Amino acid sequence: KTFEELGVSEAIRRAVEELGYEQPMPVQEEVIPYLLGENNDVIALAQTGTGKTAAYGLPILQKVNPSSRHTQAVVLSPTRELCLQIADDLKDYSRYIDGLHVQAVYGGASIDSQIRALKKGAQVIVATPGRLIDLMNRGVARLDEVQNVVLDEADEMLNMGFSESIDAILEGVPEERNTLLFSATMSKEVENIAKNYLHNHKEIVV
Ligand code: AMP
Repeated sequence: KTFEELGVSEAIRRAVEELGYEQPMPVQEEVIPYLLGENNDVIALAQTGTGKTAAYGLPILQKVNPSSRHTQAVVLSPTRELCLQIADDLKDYSRYIDGLHVQAVYGGASIDSQIRALKKGAQVIVATPGRLIDLMNRGVARLDEVQNVVLDEADEMLNMGFSESIDAILEGVPEERNTLLFSATMSKEVENIAKNYLHNHKEIVV
């Protein structure tokens, strides 16, 4: 199948073609039409290198309304390096969507420049859980219009002790959202998150 057959918009197709993506990878073929088609949750067992970032990133970016400045999607990831990598990928994919802003926020760096960046408006925030909680508590990250939450490398985040932060974030976003859980492994803790926060979800193993 082609990206067009999966329902990917012209603007995003132009961007991924420029990146040299000739055809969708298997996880993308499964996840993209599913997320574009219906409002359902997904849990995907996928390692790094499988193309998972584009699998959730393309449909999420396509569903964002760029003319609203509200935060509409949140991607949680365990480390600063991953946050920056994911944000770079999402910026590449949304290069031809006017007005769409992706912002990375993570611990271990000055919060002031992140506050300034968020105040300009970011429809998509890519965050480590602890720093996002801090920014929520300061009233800078407002998540009341969020429609999609991605937990990327969920098993790693739980191993690093982010369980409580993840709970607080998932309780701080609207209930009528979609939750997308990506994990390399399935553990009891990952299953618990799925049980507590995912509804009607499809399970995909790559
Ligand atoms: P990820 O698993 O998201 O870290 O992606 C692994 C690598 O595959 C990254 O370097 C992506 O840029 C690349 N990639 C993702 N989707 C495609 C695709 N459809 N065709 C070629 N490369 C891709």
